[in-house]
Amino acid sequence: MSFRCWWPRGVLVRAAVALAVATLLPGGLVVTAAAAGPTGPDLRWSWPLDPRPEVVTAYDAPPGPYAAGHRGVDLAGRAGSPVRAVDDGVVAFAGTVAGVAVVSVDHQGERSTYQPVAATVRTGDPVQRGDVLGSLLIAGGHCFPAVCLHLGRRHGESYADPEDLLGSGSKIRLVPPSGPPPVPPPVDDAPLAGSWTPPVDAPVSSPYGMRVHPITGELKLHDGTDFAAACGTPVRAVADGRVVAVTYDPAYGQRVVMDHGGGVETSYNHLARASVRSGAAVRAGAVVGAVGSTGMSTGCHLHFMVRADGAPVDPVRFLA
Ligand SMILES: [Zn+2]
Ligand SMILES: [Zn+2]
Repeated sequence: MSFRCWWPRGVLVRAAVALAVATLLPGGLVVTAAAAGPTGPDLRWSWPLDPRPEVVTAYDAPPGPYAAGHRGVDLAGRAGSPVRAVDDGVVAFAGTVAGVAVVSVDHQGERSTYQPVAATVRTGDPVQRGDVLGSLLIAGGHCFPAVCLHLGRRHGESYADPEDLLGSGSKIRLVPPSGPPPVPPPVDDAPLAGSWTPPVDAPVSSPYGMRVHPITGELKLHDGTDFAAACGTPVRAVADGRVVAVTYDPAYGQRVVMDHGGGVETSYNHLARASVRSGAAVRAGAVVGAVGSTGMSTGCHLHFMVRADGAPVDPVRFLA
């Protein structure tokens, strides 16, 4: 898989001073002020982590309500770090969404969302800017296996860029003189490169992420990566591990679940058949079953899942 962040690392820089006029830099790069946001002093948020964190993934506006995009910023952090309210408000939600621990705070027209966070506040609690909401978790983060806080922002009913309210001054982007970068391909987030060999040699037909379910019509998390492979195609273990379950599930159909240690599990779903037994030690590349369409499936494909500490994460991040 080669989904990649479309904007090369290192070309996104932030300056403390807003520039009103484009300036030519040595090397031909043009500095332009990013689209103006509501950056009045009353609207500033404070950073939810201290010391002030690095922004590892910027906001990427989704083109539609169900479309891929990145509805917030990812801030580098440490597991267990206190996560603080960006402004005064009331806790609107503290709990789990699709297995990920989330806290949201309402600030009169703005809403901030923090994940993955083990909450120490409850829904309805009033909070002040800087108050601790909980501690930063590892599992369910957008940078897994690295640790980061996803900070989302809703302005009224729409998603907006949190950086427009963070006290960083205006965002400055370096744009190549040939013009702005191309329109990004639809990716759910910038993945990390992994080392696992994909379980089948087939294209991805549906990525991990929020989508309208093809059978139920609900908007929900698609908790794995679908590979478009013909029924009967051998399915291979992506890494060494132990088979911990060979079961039939009404939704996932015939499935094989493997434990790879360190809290990381993989599963291979909608199989026509399993070819391993529970308890077996399996090497990377060994056949564990055959592609099928059992359970809630509309046709032959492999639904491949990765769980970290029990929470689903994007499998593409682990694949080479
Ligand atoms: Zn994120
Ligand atoms: Zn699937």
